[in-house]
Amino acid sequence: MVKVLKFGGSCIEKMDKIWRILKEEKEEKIVVVSALPEVTDELYISFPSRDVEGLRERHIAMVERMDAGEEHKKAMISRMEQMLLNAKRAESLDAFVSYGERLSAMLLERYLNSKGMRATVLESDSLPLITDESGEIMLEECTSVKKRIKEEIMKGSIPIITGYFGIDEKGSIKTLGRGGSDYTASAIAYLIDAEAVELWKDTKGFMSADPKIVEKAHLIEELSYEEAAELAHYGAKILHPRAIEPAVKKGIKIFIKNIDNHSEKGTLISDKTSEKAKIRAISCRKGVKILKFSIPGLAYTKIPGKIIDDHYRKGDLIYAISTSQASLALLVDEDCEERAEEIKPMRIENVALIATVGYDIGMTPGISADVFLSMKKEGINILMISEGASDSAINFVVAGEECDRAVKALHRDLIEVKNGNE
Ligand code: ASP
Repeated sequence: MVKVLKFGGSCIEKMDKIWRILKEEKEEKIVVVSALPEVTDELYISFPSRDVEGLRERHIAMVERMDAGEEHKKAMISRMEQMLLNAKRAESLDAFVSYGERLSAMLLERYLNSKGMRATVLESDSLPLITDESGEIMLEECTSVKKRIKEEIMKGSIPIITGYFGIDEKGSIKTLGRGGSDYTASAIAYLIDAEAVELWKDTKGFMSADPKIVEKAHLIEELSYEEAAELAHYGAKILHPRAIEPAVKKGIKIFIKNIDNHSEKGTLISDKTSEKAKIRAISCRKGVKILKFSIPGLAYTKIPGKIIDDHYRKGDLIYAISTSQASLALLVDEDCEERAEEIKPMRIENVALIATVGYDIGMTPGISADVFLSMKKEGINILMISEGASDSAINFVVAGEECDRAVKALHRDLIEVKNGNE
């Protein structure tokens, strides 16, 4: 069995725990890493000046805390200085921010070496992990990745792969979107035919709602691929939404694991679905707005297609679409610019998208009624509804200031009461 283990930023700060996990793991293993916490934010702020002072201090402090022996620590710092010089020469923003992952991979490699464990960094642009211009991994183009990784494993070394970026066909570094190291991990699992991906984080796993909003939110031990993808797309920050795609294609299991408690079960995401259709989790996305385009007979023209196409071509995400004979409503990020210049939309700003998720709920009578009855009881107005595209999600939009109250009510009425708190 081959496994990919991805360690998030907060885990990288706990290298001794990573070392122990790898020591106990008897399967063939490949590691993927994120940058240290907040380092990617700092890199974005430091461009285009390419000031690396903060970065240097941050990584030196990390090395100083390590139990790695003075010789190893010195070698780490001198390698880091070379890498920072390269970062200062980075030709683009994406190339510059990739240094967050390059630095953490190097530090983990050297730390493991200091413990007598063989490990080798494979930077994802040298594998190469090929992306298109928008940062989507072109899985079928990455023909040399498996061979390159296997060579390291055959040498008895653990490959450590930098998450979050790849390289496009023109040779430019491309990042995969924030939190994209999860996506790297599942793409690598696909490319080397791994059986499982473990995403190590500093949380328990997927929760039935954001515990900051709902005190009684509980861990969900198993989710289907579709449920997890819906929750991630609509706001559950625990998983990069695209991480599911490569895994689904080959039926690779994804485990979310807690670095601070190895024995905790976490969440397993697989093709297994629940027996009974019921709402199992609620996620929400704030910071979105509705754009409403109204023209008599709009549905009979090509205008809706053009408006939607304009947004997609500029790289905007459209979270929900709703149409009528004379109007089209799109839900987009609050900072999304207007694209269709000829028709000015009406804007409803500061709204929130609520996603209620559970396997097969769209095909089961009465579940939508329960969702909207809960909102009626709370006196919360529904501004837009998106249902029927997925059988696993019923989504709708409410005013931003009513978001938390809506999530609390739905959790109480549909998960705690209806499902007997699972
Ligand atoms: N370091 C990147 C970010 O902060 C990618 C990741 O952590 O997965 O978004």
